[in-house]
Amino acid sequence: MSAIFDLGERPAVAIHNSDDVYPVRRIYCVGRNYEAHAREMGKDPQRDPPFFFTKPADSLVANGVDVPYPPRTENFHHEIELVIAIGKGGRDINVEDAEDHIYGYAVGNDLTRRDLQLAAREQGRPWDTGKAFDLSAPITAIYPVADNGHIREGEISIKVNGEIRQQADIKDLIWNVPEIVAELSTLFELQPGDLIYTGTPAGVGAVERGDLMEGYIAGLGTLTTRVSE
Ligand code: MN
Repeated sequence: MSAIFDLGERPAVAIHNSDDVYPVRRIYCVGRNYEAHAREMGKDPQRDPPFFFTKPADSLVANGVDVPYPPRTENFHHEIELVIAIGKGGRDINVEDAEDHIYGYAVGNDLTRRDLQLAAREQGRPWDTGKAFDLSAPITAIYPVADNGHIREGEISIKVNGEIRQQADIKDLIWNVPEIVAELSTLFELQPGDLIYTGTPAGVGAVERGDLMEGYIAGLGTLTTRVSE
């Protein structure tokens, strides 16, 4: 028995200071995981706690690669985020054990067709058209915990054309990294190859054709993505 066509290589992310790659199984994302961002989206973080959605693994874009302005939107937004790369699977993982399941961290940008996302939200429909579109998940190389340690605090920010748009501290996460891993593992069995975009701070906004986005997280370096002309 053989496949009737070739899907090509599995999506993968570079590993910092290595020729190896991290093959990707799934991309999970956390929504509204910083209080100030929940408020700018018109939600009360006390009444509306964080939640999960997904993107397809083949929506990943490597650092430095341009993204096209996507179709069917007039409000294309950046969302700078810390990304967790799972190295050891499990279900019902305890918060105390959660860091042991992490292979490394990266800088990610949860690109969003905001007009489609908000229309779906208002109609009680799924978010896929607003969030899970082609080339919607730029990411840097993964920085392994073995070399670089865990990311528990420090600056997270993004500039557009050199101007700061979002700036916060990883400590401001509502669900911190171990809590995200523990919570997600009660809903899905986590596996090596699972990435988790952990949510974005306040200051999301639109980008246009030609704009240059430079995302930064202390200890992880810079994610550079241009919207192609
Ligand atoms: Mn996001």
